[in-house]
Amino acid sequence: MSSSRACLAALVAPLVVLLAALALLSDDIDLSPADWLADTADSALAAAERLGIAKPRSPLDRALRLLDRHPLADGHNDIADKITGLADGAIAHLDLTRLPPPYHTDITRLRQGRVGIQAWSAYIPCPSNFTQNAHAIRLTLDRIDLLKRIAAAYPDDFELVGSAAAARRAARAGKIASLIGIEGGHQIAESLTALRMYYDLGVRYMTLTHTCHTSWADSCAPPPLHHGLTPFGADIVREMNRIGMLVDISHVSHETMRDVVNVTRAPLFVSHSSAYGLCANPRNVPDDVLLAMKKHDGIIMINFWPELISCGPTATIAQVADHIEYISKLVGPKHVGFGADFDGLTELTTGLEDVSTYPKLVAELLRRGFSDADVVAITSGNFLRVLEKTEIVARKMAKRGAKPNETNTPPRDAC
Ligand SMILES: [Zn+2]
Repeated sequence: MSSSRACLAALVAPLVVLLAALALLSDDIDLSPADWLADTADSALAAAERLGIAKPRSPLDRALRLLDRHPLADGHNDIADKITGLADGAIAHLDLTRLPPPYHTDITRLRQGRVGIQAWSAYIPCPSNFTQNAHAIRLTLDRIDLLKRIAAAYPDDFELVGSAAAARRAARAGKIASLIGIEGGHQIAESLTALRMYYDLGVRYMTLTHTCHTSWADSCAPPPLHHGLTPFGADIVREMNRIGMLVDISHVSHETMRDVVNVTRAPLFVSHSSAYGLCANPRNVPDDVLLAMKKHDGIIMINFWPELISCGPTATIAQVADHIEYISKLVGPKHVGFGADFDGLTELTTGLEDVSTYPKLVAELLRRGFSDADVVAITSGNFLRVLEKTEIVARKMAKRGAKPNETNTPPRDAC
């Protein structure tokens, strides 16, 4: 160390040590609404490490400390579907604090994973034909009801929330802020009434399709039917903007994604897909849509499914981090997050086998040189910003006098 550097260190060290000590004493979680930025505590500790006056922490220690202060958000979890399949949707005989395999999710592991905000999917399978809508709304209500019963049964752990502000408040109170998403336009049975009623029940995102076309939007499943959104599909996107529901373009075709780019006023939102530039699976998002996402201030939440990471049956934590790094280099770290798809995955990435494992991925990002502020943005801040901006779009549309779309499509399969 040169003498001038030693002198500087001697001057700065007491201040850094004081800040670091204060940081260690402080347990408060900083969930400030503006930027959800990394706190000075960690910056001070990092400075102390650089000056050689504090023992360097491992990337995993740093990850855990950051996540303790800024609980993690995830864009997609399918436990409702798994409980439906394995336990007929009944939770009375399940202990959700500890669920055995094949469950990837339980409360103990959510806590270990530092999850503070989770969007739960109220998924129902595609009908065999898009005109068969008879049971879609009933089955969707079953899933929403299941998620509400889970939250009610574990009030110390879960709180259903309907806004970014409520999510921050719940996370600050030590709860796992829980949002509901529906996973496919087939779930509204071509009904804007159903869309609005789902919002009233707490649904805050709709994936426009699952792996089946609807009568108004193409999914990624070949061959294309409409080549994107139909005019009614565009109306549905506008109605989602008006009510403040995130327009999720996971699972849709690239043509549908591009049509949504041209229609939506709210930030683009991808709940659980990865980068097409690294893995050319049609479920993934191509670079031109990612660039549009930057323009729309949106977010892609990365899916951990090996098929979408390595385009093969296996994948590693490093390969998941590659997707995050790829998107960060292309459009910046403000437009990426995690949407693991736990309990919906048939194969798992090695090292990311359940909801307890997120800190290992965060450690990998820190190891690669992502700053604390970038990590906090990726793990929660970006999602909260997109949710908040979608709410603001709805408020602005209401101010300008936007009215409900009263197009009423008659049920196709009424007898
Ligand atoms: Zn999915």
